[in-house]
Amino acid sequence: MVIDVKKCLKQGKFNGDFAFDFEPDASDVDIPYVEFSTPVRVKGLFHILEDDSLEVEGEISYTLKGLCSRCLKETEEKVVYAFHEYFTQEENGEDYTCKNGQADLAEVVNDAILLSMPHTLLCKDGCEMIAYHS
Ligand SMILES: [Zn+2]
Repeated sequence: MVIDVKKCLKQGKFNGDFAFDFEPDASDVDIPYVEFSTPVRVKGLFHILEDDSLEVEGEISYTLKGLCSRCLKETEEKVVYAFHEYFTQEENGEDYTCKNGQADLAEVVNDAILLSMPHTLLCKDGCEMIAYHS
């Protein structure tokens, strides 16, 4: 999903919203035996600021499905992660940068997926390892 800031400015449209599904890269999950069971849903609002930079605020959500990292029971977990980022017209080394006046939200979504990714999938809080009897 790309927001054409240049075009919005021309049309005098300074606010809007977005909602789309994003097909994640399976390799973003680094928990063994776990995979995405839904696409990543993205929704949020955008606002064009006085210096023509773009503010985007929203959240991503997705479900992970697989085996509990401790007891190996089938389980799934929904992950919700909020983002609030800026795209500037000129690169500033800190924010995202528009290319030809366009902001590519895929960059934000990819980073949000990596930041939100849990390190383990648990069937319940505090799940214990299987206790083997000796
Ligand atoms: Zn478990």
